[in-house]
Amino acid sequence: MAEQESLEFGKADFVLLDTVSMREFMANLKLRFEKGKIYTYIGEVVVSVNPYRPMNIYGKDTIEQYKGRELYERPPHLFAIADATYKAMKRRSKDTCIVISGESGAGKTEASKYIMQFIAAITNPSQRQEVERVKNMLLKSNCVLEAFGNAKTNRNDNSSRFGKYMDINFDFKGDPIGGHINNYLLEKSRVIVQQQGERNFHSFYQLLLGGPEKLLRTLHIQKDPTAYNFIKAGGVLKSAINDAAEFKAVADAMKVIGFTSEEIQTVYKILATILHLGNLKFAMDGDSVFIENSKLVSVIAELLSTKSDVVEKALMYRTVATGRDVIDKQHTDQEASYGRDAFAKAIYDRLFCWIVNRINDIIEVKNYDAKIHGKNTVIGVLDIYGFEIFDNNSLEQFCINYCNEKLQQLFIQLVLKQEQEEYQREGIPWRHIDYFNNQIIVDLVEQQHKGIISILDDACVNVGKVTDKMFLDALNTKLQKHAHYSSRKLCATDKTLDFDRDFRIKHYAGHVVYSVIGFIDKNKDTLFQDFKRLMYNSSNPVLKNMWPEGKLSITEVTKRPLTAATLFKSSMIALVENLASKEPYYVRCIKPNEQKSPLLFDDQRCQHQVEYLGLMENVRVRRAGFAYRQSYDRFLQRYKMISEFTWPNHDMRSDQEAVKKLVECCGFQHDVAYGKTKLFIRTPRTLFTLEDRRTQMI
Ligand code: ADP
Ligand code: MG
Repeated sequence: MAEQESLEFGKADFVLLDTVSMREFMANLKLRFEKGKIYTYIGEVVVSVNPYRPMNIYGKDTIEQYKGRELYERPPHLFAIADATYKAMKRRSKDTCIVISGESGAGKTEASKYIMQFIAAITNPSQRQEVERVKNMLLKSNCVLEAFGNAKTNRNDNSSRFGKYMDINFDFKGDPIGGHINNYLLEKSRVIVQQQGERNFHSFYQLLLGGPEKLLRTLHIQKDPTAYNFIKAGGVLKSAINDAAEFKAVADAMKVIGFTSEEIQTVYKILATILHLGNLKFAMDGDSVFIENSKLVSVIAELLSTKSDVVEKALMYRTVATGRDVIDKQHTDQEASYGRDAFAKAIYDRLFCWIVNRINDIIEVKNYDAKIHGKNTVIGVLDIYGFEIFDNNSLEQFCINYCNEKLQQLFIQLVLKQEQEEYQREGIPWRHIDYFNNQIIVDLVEQQHKGIISILDDACVNVGKVTDKMFLDALNTKLQKHAHYSSRKLCATDKTLDFDRDFRIKHYAGHVVYSVIGFIDKNKDTLFQDFKRLMYNSSNPVLKNMWPEGKLSITEVTKRPLTAATLFKSSMIALVENLASKEPYYVRCIKPNEQKSPLLFDDQRCQHQVEYLGLMENVRVRRAGFAYRQSYDRFLQRYKMISEFTWPNHDMRSDQEAVKKLVECCGFQHDVAYGKTKLFIRTPRTLFTLEDRRTQMI
């Protein structure tokens, strides 16, 4: 339990609520938010509410206060969890991870940055140069990833549009010696279109507004964002962030990390290519497609270090193999536009992955380093999209919500597992408690043959025209008995669902209606081989290296590429396996309102988040066992003044016996269990009483 703050701030740990009810939980959360206490514990889980204002709680002084302390010795804070993680890693050589979850705008990315800053601040006391260099690169990599992977959305001005897992490796001294980043599912549809009020990825505006004149000239780019279709659809061109200043910061960061100037130039060329692609217009002249503004084609060819006719051909034709023959099939204007958009999305997505890979090349601990540094332990930080329910939910939301089901499953397993293991270690019998196990929903999505992803893949491999509607029919046939799946066909009275379009999944966090429109197309994620070849044949070696599969000619492309959903599923399974092998710590972020206001606590919205983050269950699990546990020596340190047997020092054979005496003297013996090294207290009430008596004595 955290250091008792004054009661006017509410309970610092939800485990201490008088009764576990949603009402009390929410009242405590709200009270603390209003008093500016944005962090509260559930045992070792931090619940965080976005303050939407600068808080003076992350400075050097605060870092000093939390460094090396035990969790309960200070008021709840991210730093306490970061420190606990670091200690577990250092003292017990445990690989650990911090899982940060919550919906968009809840404060996940900010939390992950504060955690990194804390770790950077408390390590390398001897100021070793090499370690400082590594720390600097790890922090700088963030700036680059945010430029290319974040965007202004209606919910968050700096919204991460990708999932991120970052490992930091430490040597035996506990100093960072390297790291590794995994990225998940970038929202690449944003490259070609944005909703009203939103922007494309920051990188485009940074280039336009911050790029030096000379650079823009070589890229044939004007400074005016309204000149480019791909970045003006949302109707906002400015964000709270200073794009011009960021351009410089990102360029510097790339240099510091170790990108060559040729690589950095290529990055700009790719951004410019995408901007020009967005302005290409196709039209029909009789049966033939043509490009209205063909001058742009030569600009694109120049940027991609290839020839105009090659670019033109890739845009207007598609090479198809029919039996043994290879023919060039001309697109219609619509097909050409589709191909252009797919191309723009693909090169941005590839650029982003390439940037992550380059950073990894540089920050990864190499074998020879590992030998020098000896033992090597890891802290992982996961900052990944939270549960999403929009008005219109498509394959992206489906994947994101599946990711959250996986993480919830992990949470259930680990939180329960961890509790059980602790009781076992301490020799205390464990009582099972009930909770909703969402494995059934995970299976609904990912099971081989019977799961939604498999059914979707089946629809995608079928030759001939399989429509989204046919996919929905297949779902209805195969899943009609599933308790967490429904549709209008299966439930005729449910007028909220469209017969031809919708299906509903009962997620653990709530019901979500998905529209199948676009599922097949997005899952196939087709990029014509012609575009891949175009990139591979570039005389710019950086571009060529980004597109190795362009080497194949159309007749050699036999293997069907894995679908988007299947790739995502594999990456989620790998992620969860990785997290499960580590000792987890959790930060659960809550967004207090939709207005980004520091004053407003929207009860309904907050309660919904508390529900779907499973926080009440978390409190129950924690309390069903023992609400509080503490090692005997530390317990004595805190409460020894309560009993004459223990104050100022005891003369018993062990701390455990002394604690036993103290407990009996207070009359709490029925509410505790004695573990091998720790005292376990079942009900919070006991702890309050102890705290009260302690306060009376001092
Ligand atoms: P998420 O990653 O969950 O989508 P962010 O971490 O990007 O959300 O936070 C959204 C915005 O909320 C930030 O840009 C910042 O303005 C504000 N914010 C989040 N956490 C804090 C914090 N601890 N202190 C002050 N402002 C914060
Ligand atoms: Mg984020």
